[in-house]
Amino acid sequence: MTHDAHLIIVGAGPAGCLAATTAASVGMTSLLIDPAPAPGGTLWRIGHLANWPGFPDGPSYARALGENLAGLDNYCSYLQATVVRVEAGADLVRAFLADGTSVIGEVLVAATGVHTAKSSEVPWVACSEDFTEIARTSPAHLGPRTLVLGGDRPLGTWLRTHRDADRKLTVCHPIRDTYKVEEVRSDPRVELLPVQAVAVSGTGPFQIEIVRADNSQEAMEVDSVVTNIGTLPTALPGLAVGTDGFCPSASQHPRIVTAGDLSARDGQRVSTATGGGANAALTLYYRFRRQAV
Ligand SMILES: Cc1cc2nc3c(=O)[nH]c(=O)nc-3n(C[C@H](O)[C@H](O)[C@H](O)COP(=O)(O)OP(=O)(O)OC[C@H]3O[C@@H](n4cnc5c(N)ncnc54)[C@H](O)[C@@H]3O)c2cc1C
Repeated sequence: MTHDAHLIIVGAGPAGCLAATTAASVGMTSLLIDPAPAPGGTLWRIGHLANWPGFPDGPSYARALGENLAGLDNYCSYLQATVVRVEAGADLVRAFLADGTSVIGEVLVAATGVHTAKSSEVPWVACSEDFTEIARTSPAHLGPRTLVLGGDRPLGTWLRTHRDADRKLTVCHPIRDTYKVEEVRSDPRVELLPVQAVAVSGTGPFQIEIVRADNSQEAMEVDSVVTNIGTLPTALPGLAVGTDGFCPSASQHPRIVTAGDLSARDGQRVSTATGGGANAALTLYYRFRRQAV
């Protein structure tokens, strides 16, 4: 069976881009697949990049990666598409696309990163709708009393950005995230509630039922609800998934290597994604291709 490229790469963030660049350097062709019109992934959202020498922000590095890929001639093709599932067999890998077609390669790098979690994706929240992230909300859109679902770091940024916002924020967070809310603990606008579970009903005002970390129960009414739950790995169906939802390389089929933010909770940086993508391509090269050429 003919293949579309030696290497199929799912996700064109820094990990996927460096997998393609590195594959080309050892003579492997790659097909880089991403729904975005241009490569770069999360780099496009980084307004200030202090820890990656030579680039003041994410978009400038994303543009450089795009130019680099364009210069790889026939070694790398970019396909604007969404992968819905991957599959690996004895000799080939296949990526199934959202339009119902599929592409075939010898080996595959999965580098789909992480995504902002929705309230419906976390087990401790019960609600019938997905609420807006606090990071995308201005004080004008919040009522006097707001429930914040989750204690992730964007809350601190929001409070610093809106220093004059006179809003009461009740922040429900799982006990394991207590270390994340320390930076907002002294803000008088914030009430912190470590919880086991939260149920939201109504359409505004909202009725809230809380099971606190100490098992006590509480009911309240709020004007607005926003999320601040953090990120979850964008695991592709067909990959081996760990108990934390991430997809470590060591657990995958030998023809598949994961790279970047998708592969582990720790070390999510541009530099580690870049190195991880390059390493993924070389791992597959040494595992399969070197014998073939
Ligand atoms: C706001 C913000 C600021 C940050 N600031 C910094 C910083 O200053 N320094 C730093 O080192 N790190 C920073 N990071 C982290 C850094 O951006 C990530 O560690 C890095 O981008 C991870 O690269 P990646 O290639 O693994 O994933 P990503 O860059 O997230 O790329 C994943 C790609 O996969 C694609 N994808 C997802 N699902 C599919 C699918 N089903 N089919 C096909 N493609 C798919 C996505 O469209 C995306 O393009 C920041 C992150 C954020 C969100």
